[in-house]
Amino acid sequence: MYSIPKDGDIVLAIRNVLARYKVIRSQRELRERVERELNFGGGNFHAGGTRIRMLAVISGVATLKVHTKTDGKAGRMDSCPVCRGELKASRNMTVYGKTVTVGYRCAKCEYWTGADDIRRPSRYEFRLRKRR
Ligand SMILES: [Zn+2]
Repeated sequence: MYSIPKDGDIVLAIRNVLARYKVIRSQRELRERVERELNFGGGNFHAGGTRIRMLAVISGVATLKVHTKTDGKAGRMDSCPVCRGELKASRNMTVYGKTVTVGYRCAKCEYWTGADDIRRPSRYEFRLRKRR
């Protein structure tokens, strides 16, 4: 049997982990350290890597560096592959007066991609977001 942690508890654990380690170099590492933090002093909490990553972005507690691989496939992008936020199309006017989508940028996080060469996230780095 295991327990599902609350969003707020995960965010707190992410903050503690990032304050301690400065930089976490993969989603798997973040997940392991966050679960260890949640289970400190007993407990059997489990949280998925995607959920932890999305909470790290949405809560604003972390900054992400997204390493990507381009797979050369053109395609329509419906939502951000990092945080499922809304993607804004960047459009250019051609010499013939047509508009073409040249890329997409996430409204919530740092992710962007060209439209012809989609950048697929392959690895994430997490750092504590500095408070101003
Ligand atoms: Zn995003």
